[in-house]
Amino acid sequence: MQLRYNYRAYPDASQRRALAQAFGCARVVWNDCLRDRKEAHAAGLPYVKSAELSRLRITQAKRTAERVWLADVSAVVLQQSLRDLDAAYKNFFDSLKGKRQGRKAGPPRYKSKKDTRQSIRLNTNAFSLQDDGTVYVAKVGNLKAKWSRQLPAAPTSLTVTKDSCGRYFLSFVVDTEPDILPGVESDAGIDLGLSAFAVLSDGSRIDSPRFLRRAEKKLKRLQRELSRKTKGSNNRAKARIKVARQHAKVADRRRDFHHKASTQIIRDSQAVYVEDLTVSALARTRLAKSVHDAGWSAFVGMLQYKAALHGRTFAKVDRVFPSSQVCSACGFRDGPKPLHVREWTCSACGTVHDRDHNAARNILLEGRRIVATGRVETPNACGAPVRRAHVPAQRVEAGSPRKGQTTQAGIPGL
Ligand SMILES: [Zn+2]
Repeated sequence: MQLRYNYRAYPDASQRRALAQAFGCARVVWNDCLRDRKEAHAAGLPYVKSAELSRLRITQAKRTAERVWLADVSAVVLQQSLRDLDAAYKNFFDSLKGKRQGRKAGPPRYKSKKDTRQSIRLNTNAFSLQDDGTVYVAKVGNLKAKWSRQLPAAPTSLTVTKDSCGRYFLSFVVDTEPDILPGVESDAGIDLGLSAFAVLSDGSRIDSPRFLRRAEKKLKRLQRELSRKTKGSNNRAKARIKVARQHAKVADRRRDFHHKASTQIIRDSQAVYVEDLTVSALARTRLAKSVHDAGWSAFVGMLQYKAALHGRTFAKVDRVFPSSQVCSACGFRDGPKPLHVREWTCSACGTVHDRDHNAARNILLEGRRIVATGRVETPNACGAPVRRAHVPAQRVEAGSPRKGQTTQAGIPGL
């Protein structure tokens, strides 16, 4: 399976300039190729093939006056940008045809200089790990990196990103063998909620840690301050940087919290079931802010890849399944419960339920049922590969960043 490992990088001034140029060139190739395809589509012409775009928008473009600077960056960066565009189109088409699970993918969009996240992608022709601990990137140089943890194997690709507060990250994709953990007896249903971050079917609760709630409160205050500053003023620019920094801090802390919680759950349970999140549906309600803040989908993604990595079973329970309405003791469907109802009594069997705990128990029961009917691939006894998967590739686990040192950016899977 493929996993992503992220490290902070510290380019010097000339490397930062070279990277800025590479980000820009990758963006230009992306936008040029996207425009060709959009125009062809609008004119009723067939989809423009990648080989043609590669010739036209990379090879030949370098010989024109207005794109001559494309030759200053590694050709790999430009080719990968086109490949990423192809992948974005494939996701879009698959999504249209219903071949793709999860949220609908929209058509690829133009990239802007103002995007908060700038990136380039490289294959092994254009980067290599040096003996002195630096990472050679073609046409950029040897980048200093903070190796917060060891890479388990030689990486197959590298993404260099710059985030909104000007930090640089190296994100390696590594092919690893699953690291199967010794079997355990228990399985867990997980209810993700707003009152507690998660409630497990055994009744244990995982609350958002206090430092995270504090950091989120500060972020809200900074955002309010920003909104009061006059547009275009220096003070507004300063306030914006403060907000971006606090955003990054909150995101880092939340990610570490998610990593710790998900690792613990995967270690303790042989099978893990979660509700297939109606995040996109919920996010349109007035709960939007808290839903996004809770970062459920990132957390579920971690559970999923860690389950695959460690030989555990993972299943999502259908979103139409009314986990909060059904009595987990007798199965009676007691009708919808408004969100403020934290506790209710089953009108059939009289069991008193904590809303979230009951939901987690129902998710467990439904998960077991799904697995029993064989609708989920589970690792088999003879240890055959779990699934050479498109598990969202991410960093393996939280590690233990020392105070004030955060080591990774949130980079979505491949
Ligand atoms: Zn009941």
